[in-house]
Amino acid sequence: MIGGALEMTETIQAQVLVVGGGPGGYVAAIRAGQLGLKTVLVEADRLGGTCLIRGCIPSKAMIHVASEFDTMVKAAAKGRHGVRLSAPPALDLAETVAWKETVVGKLNGGVGALLKRAKVQVVEGWGVFSDAKTCRVQTPGGAVSIAAENVILATGSRAVELPHIPFGGPVISSTEALSLAELPRRLAVVGAGYIGLELGIAFRKFGCEVTVVEAQDRILPLYDDALTAPVRRWLEKAGVALHLRAKAKAVETRGNATELAIEDADGAEQRIAADRVLVTVGRRPLTEGFGLEAMAVDMDGRFVKVDGQCRTSMRGVYAIGDLVGEPMLAHKASAQGEMVAEIIAGRKRRFDPVAVAAVCFTEPEIASAGLLPEEAKAAGHDVMTAVFPFQANGRALSMEAGDDGGFVRVVARQGDHRLLGVQAVGAHVSELSAEFAAMLEMGAVLEDVAHTIHVHPTLSEGFHEAAQRALGHAIHI
Ligand code: FAD
Ligand code: NAD
Repeated sequence: MIGGALEMTETIQAQVLVVGGGPGGYVAAIRAGQLGLKTVLVEADRLGGTCLIRGCIPSKAMIHVASEFDTMVKAAAKGRHGVRLSAPPALDLAETVAWKETVVGKLNGGVGALLKRAKVQVVEGWGVFSDAKTCRVQTPGGAVSIAAENVILATGSRAVELPHIPFGGPVISSTEALSLAELPRRLAVVGAGYIGLELGIAFRKFGCEVTVVEAQDRILPLYDDALTAPVRRWLEKAGVALHLRAKAKAVETRGNATELAIEDADGAEQRIAADRVLVTVGRRPLTEGFGLEAMAVDMDGRFVKVDGQCRTSMRGVYAIGDLVGEPMLAHKASAQGEMVAEIIAGRKRRFDPVAVAAVCFTEPEIASAGLLPEEAKAAGHDVMTAVFPFQANGRALSMEAGDDGGFVRVVARQGDHRLLGVQAVGAHVSELSAEFAAMLEMGAVLEDVAHTIHVHPTLSEGFHEAAQRALGHAIHI
């Protein structure tokens, strides 16, 4: 090379190269390390990925503080069952964000320690493939080339940007929303899906005026009306303005004033004054900028195409997590990561879950595993359903969760009582999701649930009673 410094490139040989250190990639790397495979993990950002750094965990930390704040506001305003605050609480958002960062920091450090214990070599930097098995990374210490026998792509996803309302200035994604320097007095949210509602509700609890704009005719369109009704009631009671069948058209800023222009359900234009516009209209797989085109893998729409073992069309290249399709959930990514590591180590595994349960951390929470009633019917099953309301559950009442319209619903096959789906809406129902998934995974019938003794007083008794009710003999209703 004339006139330029010759850069030395370190070459690393690996049995397993994982690109992306989110819940898919870091779990795959730890499991591969545990299985004795020489494993390298490449991550450009902080270990933990979207989920730990700017997704699941920080959002739940903010939701937690918002709920505490909201409870205190109510205790100051009216008093609650004998508890009265003599002054309203004050919010120091900077301190809240700093606390949230300590939670993120602990998990980020923990992932690093776990990778080290599993003897995984972490390479810091953005990986770019020149062919399916060769990846170059510009690390802070120089260029590294990794030659791998097996590759696991776990590059995750990023927020969808609306072309006419690009991110920047007052228009923010969930990432910025989780680290704001000050609370917006008025927040407009575009998209009433998981993120828009989880964060929109949290900001309402912090005291912001919140408006939600959704293109479809209902909130959380993934779920049915019955399941989302308690959330909708909460939004109404809390004074969240909701525009359904509405399209976000443009964001206009004049001086300090920002307005979101929307076309409402009747086709009329409305202008919503907002200090921030949070756009949460979905996430798309991250498939650009790392040489995917050089790897000769087939695509399935925007996602990388994989088979039941997360193998791509290129031998020895696997893909997992948000990169390969719905559901774009952390636990699905981790399950695929663990499985792929075991397949590479020679074990016989397939990704064939009966159910990947999902939880929406709204107010109240929604948990769902398996098929919704309509999905079960559409799949050709002869369906029976039963609902048990939390109004008749002692634990719910003792936590003031009886009045929010929450319930547990079972969906089963008429003929053999085989459980097909379980859903719940109500305070803290997220913690029930594991039992729902376990019962489905074990192929339970209604009698299995009804004959399992559930601890009193817990919300899980709602599941027990819903199954009993389906069998015609609920005790408490
Ligand atoms: P990611 O977590 O996106 O990780 C991919 C990693 O790869 C990133 O760290 C990225 O920096 C790195 N990377 C990409 N390309 C390269 C490259 N070329 N070189 C080096 N590094 C690279 N899911 C839930 O299950 N529950 C929740 O409560 C939940 N809440 C959420 C809240 C928010 C606000 C958001 C945004 C998401 C939430 N999710 C939740 C979704 C969840 O975060 C994702 O499903 C999950 O993180 C996907 O994991 P992954 O490993 O596939 O990818
Ligand atoms: P989402 O798919 O959950 O919701 C997007 C919403 O935006 C939909 O209701 C859609 O109809 C609406 N929409 C789309 N385009 C629109 C437009 N132009 N104007 C108005 N509304 C529009 O997406 P999200 O909330 O961005 O979340 C992305 C993904 O992250 C989720 O699908 C989920 O996989 C994951 N996530 C999971 C959790 C959890 O598990 N608790 C929490 C947050 C995020």
